[in-house]
Amino acid sequence: MLTDSDNSNGAKAFSLYLHIPYCQSKCPYCDFNSHAVTSWPEDDYVRALVAEIERRSDEVPWAGRRLKTIFFGGGTPSLFRPESIAAILTEAERKFGIERGAEVTLEANPGTVDAAKLGGMRAAGINRISFGAQSFNEARLKFLGRIHSAEETREAARNARRAGFERFNLDLIFAVPGQSVDEVLNDIAEAAALGPDHISAYNLTFEEGTAFFTEMKRGRIRPIDSDRQAEFYTAVREELPRRGYKMYEISNYAPPGHEARHNLSYWRGESYLGLGAGAHSFAREEHGGGRRWWNERMPARYVEQALAGGVAEAGGETVDARSARGEFVFLNLRLRDGFALSDFERRFGESFDSVFGARAARLFEGDLLLRATGRIYLSERGLELADSVFAEFI
Ligand code: SF4
Repeated sequence: MLTDSDNSNGAKAFSLYLHIPYCQSKCPYCDFNSHAVTSWPEDDYVRALVAEIERRSDEVPWAGRRLKTIFFGGGTPSLFRPESIAAILTEAERKFGIERGAEVTLEANPGTVDAAKLGGMRAAGINRISFGAQSFNEARLKFLGRIHSAEETREAARNARRAGFERFNLDLIFAVPGQSVDEVLNDIAEAAALGPDHISAYNLTFEEGTAFFTEMKRGRIRPIDSDRQAEFYTAVREELPRRGYKMYEISNYAPPGHEARHNLSYWRGESYLGLGAGAHSFAREEHGGGRRWWNERMPARYVEQALAGGVAEAGGETVDARSARGEFVFLNLRLRDGFALSDFERRFGESFDSVFGARAARLFEGDLLLRATGRIYLSERGLELADSVFAEFI
């Protein structure tokens, strides 16, 4: 049975994620399912996504439900032609239906778009662009392996506005070795001057399997130490709101009403369908748990499987009622205003205190969690130690 709140036809609209796994080169910090290529099988990949849409649109729990947000992520979706994106959106409209006013986002690398391509994406139905700006310092861009310059980011943002995008995001990365807090403040000033309605600012991490992780293990790169990282994060959390971008999630900032609705549906633990190589999906069920599954990661195998029968599932798991309660808590705690105790109780049929009271008490005592006006949320200290708070609920 469906459990997300109802829309007019009695079935809840949901979020669709489409993964485009190709990039022009692999950034050394990136642990996404992205593959550096000089050419890519765009037409086959589009046909594979279309086959998945056709198949899933007839299946429980997606049949009869419309789309409220669509997100083309990657990889570098902006490598694709606008006609390809249009073909996928046309199929999504035909098989699911897209709600009026739906948020339709495309991730773009500033080095892969010109005015014509952005105009084409707008005409195809994209209404929000997320640019990987990362920094406005050329040395830092080089170190991060980015294929674009700061000027290309500025040009891409200007072209996006000219193409009619009222909503666009800029991603920034901070705590990069060699960077100073002043430099990050300058990055924020540069980003804000371009007039995005949303800014994401991520702390650089060294994930296993990345080139940076190997370099770190070999002693060739030294990450900024954790106290300094906290200094960077504090500066970012203070500076962005001063410029009108309110912090609404650990790494995300926007004026009220401009939050990324697609990502909000993840943080709120709602159902979503992920299509494309390595994409994950989650379908909530009545008991508060649900099912999660993921696609074949390798693009060539994904295309082959999806074209053969419209599915490319590589694995899945049942999320039992207990795990679902923990997930709800640590996902919602990413949000600055956390969650309402009444929402927890409505969803799971028991109170937060009866499930997590003892664990939460330690976090309240340690000044990591706060409770006010019927809500639970992270303290300032909790924001800096968020991963250890989340671990208490896993
Ligand atoms: S462009 Fe984005 S997805 Fe591609 S390698 Fe770089 S960070 Fe990863």
